[in-house]
Amino acid sequence: MSKKELENLKKELAFSPRNAWKGLNSKVVDEFSSGYMDFMSKGKTERNFVEETVKLLEKAGYVPIEKADFKNEVKTYEVYRSKAIAIYRVLKTLNGGFNVIASHIDSPRIDLKPRPVYEDTGIALAKTHYYGGIKKYQWFNIPLAIVGVIIKGNGETVKVNVGNDPKDPVFVISDLLPHLDKQDKKFSDINGEMLNLILGSKPITFEEFDSSIKLNILKILNEKYGIVEEDLTSAELELVPALEPREVGFDRSMIAAYGHDDKICAYASLKALLDAEKLARPAVVVFFDKEEIGSEGSTGSKNQFWIPPLKKMLAAKGKDVNVFLDDLIENTAVLSSDVSAAVNPTFKDVHEINNAAILGHGIVVTKYTGIRGKAGASDADAEFVWKVRKLFNDNKVAWQPGELGKVDIGGGGTVSKYFAERGMHVIDTGPALVGMHSPYEIVSKADLYHSYLAYKAFIEKFEM
Ligand code: MN
Ligand code: MN
Repeated sequence: MSKKELENLKKELAFSPRNAWKGLNSKVVDEFSSGYMDFMSKGKTERNFVEETVKLLEKAGYVPIEKADFKNEVKTYEVYRSKAIAIYRVLKTLNGGFNVIASHIDSPRIDLKPRPVYEDTGIALAKTHYYGGIKKYQWFNIPLAIVGVIIKGNGETVKVNVGNDPKDPVFVISDLLPHLDKQDKKFSDINGEMLNLILGSKPITFEEFDSSIKLNILKILNEKYGIVEEDLTSAELELVPALEPREVGFDRSMIAAYGHDDKICAYASLKALLDAEKLARPAVVVFFDKEEIGSEGSTGSKNQFWIPPLKKMLAAKGKDVNVFLDDLIENTAVLSSDVSAAVNPTFKDVHEINNAAILGHGIVVTKYTGIRGKAGASDADAEFVWKVRKLFNDNKVAWQPGELGKVDIGGGGTVSKYFAERGMHVIDTGPALVGMHSPYEIVSKADLYHSYLAYKAFIEKFEM
């Protein structure tokens, strides 16, 4: 065979995912990216992300679920306990199943403990408890913001957001100087009780007085928020990086931000739903909390809070819930939309390159998750994988298959198994990140845009 013939044969037979930038209009991608960056600078926590989402939905004419008339076609949403949200586009008739895109809007971070404030040797600090899988050393010596809510003694909710505005002060967890760290502490030597946050250093009085700096902090908190120390026990205060999303590289081809995992999928699916012109089937876009700690709790995906409203929809359409709900669920198709790990060239050896996600090569289709011998996995049926692959190919979505690291090294779970266990068709899809779970994760703009295209195609065209 000639070299030309061999090349043609290779083209025909071999598979290698294409570069996701191919065929993209850079201006369109930049515009989409800047909308995302803007959203991310405001929605760093699950509560804030829900608030920003509602703003977009209201602007687009979506109504709160209490006001939805399910007899007709309707665009509606349900905020669930301030930290999760389900967005529905219900059609006139309810046959077959839903197309669901599910992601999570919690990200690894550091929380304040219930009784956080203390003073030690000239500094007032806060005790913290980290949330999700972090490499603790990454959280030292970076600017942090405190974001969340405090419920006061009288039941009033106070919102806190300090450090994100450039005029705000920031907070820092400070590491030991190298001069005195002669044993060169290994990462594993850093324990959770070392993650103490600096709050202040000025005493309330210059007279001899015990815990004078702490008292000054409490006084400032009282003046600013009307709270006393006990109120901090009924609070959710999260430390997030006080870093704005930024473009990365001379070519500006990437975005660094806190919390791409997994707000990038949430944002891309939200935009896809808002932009979708006609729907193949009724659609739900749902954002969960608590994925990073195992999907526990009422706002995590173990509680599929988006399902009970389906009963109301069926009832409004005159259908017997007991007969039709199970059918609806069985025929529902879900993209569990979560990020994957892109190969970091400096640490290549943790991946098996043929099955690792490469930056800038499109949305990652992860057939199965789990650890070692697929323990705890949701493993999508070949038939369902084919349907999704065909959808992406037909709609020119750049995609690549991927696994999270070498067989015995890697692993992880997503929300997918909590859909699978109810009988829904589900597969994991999402862009790949460099530096996942760090305070400043990196994504390719092209992968972000193809994720949006993938979700839009799924909402507009996917049928079982
Ligand atoms: Mn995730
Ligand atoms: Mn994660």
